[in-house]
This record gives sequence, C-alpha cells and structure tokens, in this order.
Amino acid sequence: MAAPAFDQAKQKNHERVSDLELNPATVELEFMGVYGVTAVMILMSLVVVVLESGCNGNNLCALVKTNGSGNESGVVSHLLEFVSDAKEYLVNWVLVDGFISYNVFATYCVYFSWLVALSYLLPGESVKGVKLRDGTFLKYKVNGFVSGVLTVSIVLADAFVNGPSKLMYVADNFKYFVSSTLVFSVLLALAVYLLSFRPVNGTKADDCKGKSGYSESKGALLLSATGNSGYFAYDYFMGRELNPRYFGLDIKYFCELRPGLIGWVLVNIAFIAKHYSNFGTISNAILLATGSQILYVFDALFLEKAVLTTMDITTEGFGFMLSMGDLCWVPAVYTLQARYLAYNNIELSPYFATFVLILSIAGYLIFRLSNLQKNNFRSSPTIDPKLYTYIETNAGSKLLVSGWWGLARHINYTGDWLLGLSQCLATGFGNPLTYFFSLYFLSLLLHRNYRDELKCKNKYGKDWDRYCSIVKYKFIPYLI
Ligand code: NDP
Repeated sequence: MAAPAFDQAKQKNHERVSDLELNPATVELEFMGVYGVTAVMILMSLVVVVLESGCNGNNLCALVKTNGSGNESGVVSHLLEFVSDAKEYLVNWVLVDGFISYNVFATYCVYFSWLVALSYLLPGESVKGVKLRDGTFLKYKVNGFVSGVLTVSIVLADAFVNGPSKLMYVADNFKYFVSSTLVFSVLLALAVYLLSFRPVNGTKADDCKGKSGYSESKGALLLSATGNSGYFAYDYFMGRELNPRYFGLDIKYFCELRPGLIGWVLVNIAFIAKHYSNFGTISNAILLATGSQILYVFDALFLEKAVLTTMDITTEGFGFMLSMGDLCWVPAVYTLQARYLAYNNIELSPYFATFVLILSIAGYLIFRLSNLQKNNFRSSPTIDPKLYTYIETNAGSKLLVSGWWGLARHINYTGDWLLGLSQCLATGFGNPLTYFFSLYFLSLLLHRNYRDELKCKNKYGKDWDRYCSIVKYKFIPYLI
C-alpha cells in the first residue's frame, strides 16, 4: 500500500521537486491504512451515539436494575435487555425524532462563532510556535483561558439571574448536541481537506526559506507529513494540511482546546443543574466527578501555550481525527460521568469519597508536576545541574533522567490516567459505561506512548537506547 502512494505523490509533483521536499509523501500508513482509518471513523461515530443512548435519563445500562417485582435481574439478562433498549432508542432517535435538530445545530454554531469572536477580540500574548519544515515560524495568540473564564462566567451569571432554563436545554437536548457536533466536525474536516488543494502562489518553498512570516503572508501550503498519502480516506482522517489558517484563525490550534474543553465544562454544569432539578440536592459523587474535570480543563487552558510543542500541533494535520476528537468526542465521551450522575443520586460513603479525592489529587499532582518539570527543563536557557540530571544527545536536545522523568518515561500519562480513573470511580459501580472513559483513555495513552517512543527512537537513535537503559520503566516505577 505504501509504495504506490509514494509513487502517486511523486508523479503528481514531478515538475516541482521543491514541493516534494517541502511536502514529502506519507509512505508509512498508520492505523492499518485506508481500511483501518475508515473503520475508526465509523466506530468513533457509533460510540458517541451509543454512549448517549446508554447514559442519559433512560439509564438503560445500569448493571443491576430492580425489575417491577422487586427482584434484581442478572447481569447477562440485563445486558441483553440493554442492547435491545438501546437499539429501540437509536431507531427512534434517527428515524422518528430526527438525527439532527436544526435549533440545536444553530445553537452550536452560535457557540462556536462566539469563541472564534473572543479569539480575535480578547487580548492575549503572542507566542512563536516551533520551527516549521520551511524554516519559518507561526505566531499564536494565547487567550484560551480568558475566553473560557468569560464564557463560563456569563453562563453561570445568566443561570443565577434568569434561572437554569438554558442549562436545562443543553441537558434535555444532549443527544442533538452530540449529533450536531458530529456533523459539524465531519463537515469542518471535509472543508479543510478540500481547501488544502487550493492553489498556492507558485513560489517555490526553497526560495523562501528563512523568510519569517512566509507561511502566513505568502500562502505557502505546508502539508502534514502524516496525512499526505494521496488516499482520500486516509488523508481526510489524518489531516492533509498542517496549519490551516483562514482570516487569521488557526483552525487546529483553536479547536485543540477551546470549543471542546470549554464545552466539556458547560455540559458538566448543565448536568449538575439537571441533577439538582431532579433531586433537590447536589451529591458528593457529582461534585467529585466534575470538580476535578473542571480543574483539569482550566489547568489546560491556563497553560495553553504548552500545546504548541505537542504532537497534535507540530506533526498532525487537521483532519477527522482532530476535528471529531476535539469538537465531538471530548464533550460527548468525557461528560459521561456527569450525565449518568444527573439521573442517579449517588452519595458515596465518607471513606470511599476520601479515597476518590486522594486518588484524584495524587493523579493530578503526578500529571501536572511531571509535565511542569519537563517544560521548565526544556524552556530554561541555562540548566542548573543541582536541579536536573540529564544526558546529552547527538540530536541536540537533552533528556532529563532525574525527578519524575527518572522514575518512568511517561509518568505524566500515569498521573493523567489515575485522575481519569478517580472520576469514573466517583460514579460508583452501578453502570459499566461510566468506566468506558478509563478504558478508552488507557488505549489512547498506550497508542500515544507507542508513537512517541517510535518518534524518539528515530530522532535520538542510540542515545534513546541509552536513555531507556537509565530510565527503565515506561509508566510505573519497578513495575512496567
Ligand atoms: P509528552 O509531554 O510526554 O511529550 C513527549 C515528548 O517529550 C517526547 O517526544 C520528547 O520530545 C520529550 N521527552 C521525552 N522524554 C523526555 C525527557 N526525559 N526529557 C526531556 N524531554 C523528553 O507527551 P504528550 O504531548 O503526548 O502529552 C502531554 C500531556 O498531555 C500528558 O500528560 C498526557 O497525559 C496529556 N494528554 C491528554 C489527553 C486527553 O485527552 N486528556 C490526550 C493526549 C495527551 P523531544 O522531541 O522534544 O525530545
């Protein structure tokens, strides 16, 4: 599969050798190629829809539920019942109610446009991104945190002054928000894919190397090295254009944290309000599950510029994977706990609640302190040998082997996963679907670890082997 893709791209670009160098063809296809990404796209879309049917007011998937006669049905019979109930729910949703609500779709468009407007209007530090393949840099305006604070404050103030009707609208129409974000993200990725074929101004990339602002002002199109195979499905999924920018808006950077993460907080708030309207109280379970998620989101927004060195920004194009992942998957999947608890008044025992709280604080501290340590190490112009032990590499960058990074090569993933697990535990043990997040997040982090180790091995070669022999464990010291 790989060789024809390369030949195709070579043929397409044979007259412009410099284009080929600027935008090398993707020859090694990930996710098992075209068929793999097609399956992933279908599966991701199905998952968000099925999860909506399982964790809503119908509460279809409570593991053990009391039947009419007061006896408890068994797990297997209940799971079968769940499958048939969910099927009926989905058929009703798609064929009777209509998959999309135009009002909700319009509401989502207004929300998205509001955040776009804030990104232009609010002040923010201008930060240089990493060096691009053509030798230039892009600038990014960092105002995600203030956009998030302002948006959430307005929603809360409106709820206090005018009552929670808008929050209830979100909670009661959540399935339509899922379908709207799905359709929106699919269309956005398609538009960005098609626009990646727009004519560039004909200037050869080599002629422009080193001229700052080239990508922004002269329109040289940089394609992603991972999404330029020539196969529609593959490039659409991975993202063909590296940094799509229109009217000064960097689509990938904007979508990475803002609509999805701020939406996650707003959906959580809507379901806390729903919980209160259902039970007249707020349980410790919903506070524990949503409190640490809200902290996690504002932490990410506060440190927004750290996203500029992540793989998503430096390497991936903007395709279905990021568009759907950021805009639909995050608010649809990451809010499962709040949605379940909105309809189930679970009060955790003081001992279990304390355990969940400690786990969530420990997870957060490991995640935050390890990421902070690496950021400080990498960004400080001079390295104090009393603070850090590191190894030099032929590639130029130093690798930290002390502190958190001396314990395990991806201890930051471990902390992040534990934090997510604590949010699932806060839902108790009545519904297996609320644990979906932990399982999914585990597979995401394992896959990310695999890709990152491969990247580092390619970049550092023998130095990476030396580093691995010093820091032996991947995630948990002395274990794995
Ligand atoms: P990392 O922050 O772990 O970055 C990996 C990179 O760091 C490597 O490629 C290498 O890059 C550099 N590096 C590796 N080891 C060292 C070392 N010892 N010393 C110095 N530099 C080193 O990966 P991610 O960007 O994947 O994750 C960042 C955070 O975001 C994680 O905590 C993760 O859990 C979280 N995350 C959360 C998601 C969510 O959905 N909630 C999704 C994805 C990530 P270089 O080439 O510079 O050497």
